[in-house]
Amino acid sequence: MENCLFCKIASGEIQSKKEFESENILVFHDITPQAPFHVLIIPKVHISSMNQIGDLDPKILTEIFQTIPKIAEQNGISEKGYRLVNNCGSFGGQTVNHIHFHLLGGRHLKWPPG
Ligand code: AMP
Ligand code: ZN
Repeated sequence: MENCLFCKIASGEIQSKKEFESENILVFHDITPQAPFHVLIIPKVHISSMNQIGDLDPKILTEIFQTIPKIAEQNGISEKGYRLVNNCGSFGGQTVNHIHFHLLGGRHLKWPPG
């Protein structure tokens, strides 16, 4: 997808601080972290938002969700806990239209969100 920031990060055209990479997914650090640990998990294939999740290969979806607890464990946030966030659309606060999941941890996070 042309002019998609996260497609460019997935292809390596734009640099990111990578936490984990496989053939189909990438985990990289958010440029504006909202917690001591804040990474974004994306499929490399372009999917615009949660509304199009049905277009994503279920194997990749499974890989995303099975990778999350591993990343949490490797970064020492499993025991105290963490938050997984997907912002969808403008009311959801989505600013990059390539589906991504935020994994935040390392501090006590407030609820409810604003
Ligand atoms: P959202 O608002 O849910 O669409 O999340 C987009 C996230 O992408 C925000 O938390 C941004 O800080 C983050 N972001 C924007 N540009 C970059 C970048 N070049 N590298 C890493 N994270 C980015
Ligand atoms: Zn994209």
